[in-house]
Amino acid sequence: MKQILIVEDEAKLAQLEADYLHAAGFGSTILSDGLEVVPWLRLHRADLVLLDLMLPGRDGLELCREIRAFSAVPIIMVTARIEEIDRLLGLELGADDYICKPFSPREVIARVKAVLRRLQPPKPEPTEHALMLDSSCFRVRAGGRETELTVVEFELLQALYRQPGRILSRQRLMDLIYPDQRIVSDRTIDSHIKKLRKKLAELLPGTEVVHSVYGAGYRYEPPAG
Ligand code: CA
Repeated sequence: MKQILIVEDEAKLAQLEADYLHAAGFGSTILSDGLEVVPWLRLHRADLVLLDLMLPGRDGLELCREIRAFSAVPIIMVTARIEEIDRLLGLELGADDYICKPFSPREVIARVKAVLRRLQPPKPEPTEHALMLDSSCFRVRAGGRETELTVVEFELLQALYRQPGRILSRQRLMDLIYPDQRIVSDRTIDSHIKKLRKKLAELLPGTEVVHSVYGAGYRYEPPAG
């Protein structure tokens, strides 16, 4: 659970923020005195600080600078005067966002979420996109889904899949699929590939793994990730 430190000397407002944060799935701690903030942050983990500008003890400006000296925790500054925001921006305090009072608790939640989202390191591409072929039942799995292929579709996919990046000609595919040299036309391969690609497109929407190489044949490219 993400922990939000609320630094706010108006007790009612602080509690309201805490309640809304809680309802949105965040944990919170309230500090009302500016002097408590830095010692608290040195001992506890906070994922974000909602920092009121006007505080007893030490004001939000000083606090923001002090926090930045030792922590990169996201900070949203809260001010009672909208015209203050320009001045704060000019000071380049290192705050991540600014909110002006009076605000709706909903707005605070939206800002908190937006800042956390923005600062989140990009997730690595899910590896679940990798294709898994199950030759015992001619099924292929990817992205948590699976689909059943015909025997020919499965064999075509398997032939391409085993040599990623390599172009296999229609003739080569025909030899692999029909080792008994049955006479099949290029068109047959094309029509099986077409159906195969349609099924794969349902498994991996927006990703093409079986590429058609004009005049040459087909190539399997593993999905990214
Ligand atoms: Ca205040």
